[in-house]
Amino acid sequence: MLDISITKTTSPKAKPDESNLGFGKYFTDHMFITDYTAEKGWHDARIVPFGNLDIHPASTVLHYGAEVFEGMKAYRTEKGVVQMFRPLENVKRMNMSAERLCLPQLDEEFGLKALHEFVKLEKDWVPRQKGTSLYLRPFLFGNDPLLGLRTIDRAMFVIIASPVGNYYAEGINPVKITVETKDVRAVRGGTGYAKCGGNYAASNRAATKASEKGFSQVLWLDGVERKYVEEVGSMNVMFMIDGKVYTPKLTGSVLPGITRKSIIEVLKDWNYEVIEKEISIDELAEAVKEGRLQEAWGTGTAAVISPIGLLNYQGVDYIINNNEIGELTAKLYDELTGIQAGLKEDKFNWCYKVD
Ligand SMILES: *Cc1c(COP(=O)(O)O)cnc(C)c1O
Repeated sequence: MLDISITKTTSPKAKPDESNLGFGKYFTDHMFITDYTAEKGWHDARIVPFGNLDIHPASTVLHYGAEVFEGMKAYRTEKGVVQMFRPLENVKRMNMSAERLCLPQLDEEFGLKALHEFVKLEKDWVPRQKGTSLYLRPFLFGNDPLLGLRTIDRAMFVIIASPVGNYYAEGINPVKITVETKDVRAVRGGTGYAKCGGNYAASNRAATKASEKGFSQVLWLDGVERKYVEEVGSMNVMFMIDGKVYTPKLTGSVLPGITRKSIIEVLKDWNYEVIEKEISIDELAEAVKEGRLQEAWGTGTAAVISPIGLLNYQGVDYIINNNEIGELTAKLYDELTGIQAGLKEDKFNWCYKVD
C-alpha cells in the first residue's frame, strides 16, 4: 500500500468559534492529495498544508465535469474519542461513482487509510460542542491537460475538511418542500446514482427557483413520467403511511445514501416494515388527504434527518403532521446522532475510531 508523506504547516490557523461554524465555511490546516497517471497508477500520496490546487486550464474536470465526491463526518464523543461513521461505505460509493464517470478507482484499504491518517493529523479540528462535527470532503477528478476527449489518464484524489456547526442549533423545524415538475435531477441510465458534481449543477435552477418562493428544498420526480418521487434536495426521502415506512427504491436515478441505508437497518431492527418501491406523487397527495401520511423526512449526512412539514404540489399545500416533527422522525434522529456521538450503543458496529 502507498505510504503517505506528511508536511505539516508552519502557520496553523486559529480555530473558529464553535458556536458559529455554519457549514463548509472554515477549512483545517492540511489537505490530503494523491495523483494518478495511467503509467504509474496512484502515487505520491501526501498530506500538505491547505492551499490552492495547481490545475492546468485545459484540465478535464473544468471542461467535461469529470468529478465525483463524498460527504462524511468525524465526531468527537463525550469521552474525547474521534470517530467516523461507516467510512468504508463512502470509499466504496466513491469507487462506484468513479466507475460511472470512467475515473480511476482507489484501493478500498488505501482510501480508508488516507481518511484515517488525515483525520488523525487534524484531530484537534474536530469540534467539541454538542451537534458539531468535522465534515470530510473527499473528491476525485480527471486532470488531463488537453481538450481532446479520450480516456482519463491523469486524475487527482483530494480530501479537505471543514468543522461544521449543529445543523439544528435553533431546534429541529420541519421544512417546506415544493415538488419540481419541470426540471429533473437525473434519469435512469444517467448519473443519478453517482455522487458527482454534474448532478448538482443540473439541480441548481430548480433549487434557486424554489428558494425564491420560500421553499427550502425541491422534491424531485423521475425524469421520464414526472410521476415517481425520487429525492428531496440532496437527501433521500422517507414517508410513514399507515404505520409502515416507504422510501423510493434505488432504480439508478436515486443516490444510494448511507444515512438512508442506516435508517432502514435501524427501522428493521425496531420491527418496522420498510417498503422500497416506486412511490407516485399522486399516491402521496391522496395519503395526505385521507390522513394516512403520518410523517415524512429526508436523510443525509449533513442534517442526518430533516422533517418535512409541507409539500407543495401543483400549487396546493399538503401539510404533514401539523407541520411538526413526527414521533418516529424524532426517535430516528436521536438514535442515529446518538450512535454517532457515542451516546448510544453502536450495536451495528458503524463507528470507526481514529487513534
Ligand atoms: C450525498 C447525497 C445523499 C445522501 O447520502 P448520505 O450518504 O446519506 O449522505 C442523497 N442524495 C444525494 C443527491 C446526494 O448527493
